[in-house]
Amino acid sequence: MQQRPLKTACSEAAPGAKRKKGLVFIISAPSGAGKTTLCRAVRDRFADLQYSVSYTTRSPRSGEQNGVDYHFITAREFENGIQSGRWAEWARVHGNYYGTSAAFLDKTRAAGRDIVLDIDVEGTRQILKRYPDSITIFVMPPSMEVLRQRLEDRGTDSAEVIAVRLKNAENEMAQKGLYRHIIVNDRLPQAVAELIAVFEKYRS
Ligand code: 5GP
Repeated sequence: MQQRPLKTACSEAAPGAKRKKGLVFIISAPSGAGKTTLCRAVRDRFADLQYSVSYTTRSPRSGEQNGVDYHFITAREFENGIQSGRWAEWARVHGNYYGTSAAFLDKTRAAGRDIVLDIDVEGTRQILKRYPDSITIFVMPPSMEVLRQRLEDRGTDSAEVIAVRLKNAENEMAQKGLYRHIIVNDRLPQAVAELIAVFEKYRS
């Protein structure tokens, strides 16, 4: 795991520092890098962590539950939310809208509870403006070839969709310098251990 030096703006979240507000952890990764599995491992390990359920206009995949995996809403509802300032951040990813509820973040953080966001690079930039002390983690696949193979093996996306996801992955990986921690998901147990260590470091 590579680790960047803490910046001054991040000092509120320095390990061991006294704090009242909840911490904001952001996990980003290209599609297929294994982020969902890693996020699940973190949520299983820290039962008190609050997971921010994003809002999206994409259709549910098989097995996904409304209100659990995402809040699935219409484009009109989403666009109304943009007008009314409902989103702490939002982005168009792979042709669909995705956004984080500002009310949820503000309320949960003010209550002193730590939050995990699973969002893309564009969303991370916006959250860092709002909460500069957020702890940012980028999960990388070991290589583009492995990423392509994982997306194909997953069997949920067409060849066109996979091509778009691979292009977006290259674009996102080029911006990994935005993140404080980088975890390469080569072997899952090791990546899980590294991710949990990051959470423990800031939460202790
Ligand atoms: P998927 O459709 O595969 O669940 O997610 C596609 C991408 O959208 C992932 O990179 C995921 O991190 C990102 N994403 C999910 N929720 C949000 C969100 O609320 N905001 C932003 N900016 N990106 C999100």
